[in-house]
Formats: sequence, structure tokens, C-alpha cells
Amino acid sequence: MKIRIYHILKNTKTEGPGTRYCIWFQGCRRHCKGCWAVETWDLKGGKEYNVIDILNDIFSTPDIEGVTFLGGEPFEQPEALMFLARNIKQKGLSIVCFTGYKIEYLKKKYKNILSEIDLLIDGEFIEEEKDFSRPWVGSKNQKYYFLTDRYNESILTKYKNKIEINIQKNGKIFINGIGDFDKLEKNLKMYTKH
Ligand code: SF4
Repeated sequence: MKIRIYHILKNTKTEGPGTRYCIWFQGCRRHCKGCWAVETWDLKGGKEYNVIDILNDIFSTPDIEGVTFLGGEPFEQPEALMFLARNIKQKGLSIVCFTGYKIEYLKKKYKNILSEIDLLIDGEFIEEEKDFSRPWVGSKNQKYYFLTDRYNESILTKYKNKIEINIQKNGKIFINGIGDFDKLEKNLKMYTKH
């Protein structure tokens, strides 16, 4: 089975509790105004992988608490999402999943996938409701659903939003996490002027 992926970070501390292996799924039809991940929209973009290779890579990554799925839209590739989630869960790693869909819709269509997810964060990004005060989310409409006993609401006071800047082997910079990216961009430009 194949999966189309925009980006992978093997060790990030900004996309859910603890240190996490993070997979940005490629493809999203929602096209929200102000989306920070426009490059993930193209359903044919990114790079295609075999899910087994991704799974092996996850299992060979040390010291991770779990895996986070985001995008793009993870539920655009439900078979790959289900395969990964079920196998990751069996290994005792936790699963966090961000989605632009509302949980009510997912309960009707993808109940089997929801049963593998520990923490679901639903709702698309709405620019007019921009708010960085809660961990890992960028707008007020987004909601946390603790679907298993693995986590509970207490983690929401434990973690604060952060931005990570990763310099990749090819010299490209990948920025992730939640925060004021516009301000960061301005500051970086100022910094490069000196
Ligand atoms: S659902 Fe997420 S990835 Fe898709 S357009 Fe909206 S903010 Fe961007």
C-alpha cells in the first residue's frame, strides 16, 4: 500500500505530547483561508512511499512517545491512515491526529480509524478565529477529543506552543509548531540584514 507524504520529522516536540514522529500527509481539499500549509494541498504532490517502509522507520526511531498525523488531511488517505494507526498502536506508541473534518462526520464514516487514535484535534484553521493560546492549535474553533485513557485534559496545561526551526541535510529550512509565523518571518529578515 502506498501513502503520499509532504514531510516527515522523526523527533519533534511541538506537535503533541512528548517527543513525536510526525507525518504531514499530502493532499487537502479544504483550502482554508490563511492556511500555513498550502504546499500540502495538491493531492498528487509530495512524495509517494510504501507504508511498510514508513512503519519500519517509525519502529527504528528511538525515544519517541508516539506518532502525530497532520497535513494536509490525513483522512484523505484513510486506508494508509488506518494501516499505520493500527500497527503503531499495537507497538504501544500513542497517536495524535489533526483533521479539518468535524468528529461527527468522522464517527459516521471512519469509526474504525477513530478507535486507534488517542487524541483527535478536529476543525479546520479559521483565520478570523486565530488564537495561539492553546497547545498545538491555531484557531479557537479547533477542539481536542481524548478518545482513549492515554491522555486527558491535564496535558493541555502542561504544554505551551513552540516553533521549531529544522535545518535539513540539503540546507533547506523546515519550520513547524504553532506561533506567529508572520512575526517570525519579519524577525528572520531583520536578522539576515545585519
Ligand atoms: S484543513 Fe488544514 S491543511 Fe487543509 S487547508 Fe485547512 S488548514 Fe490547510
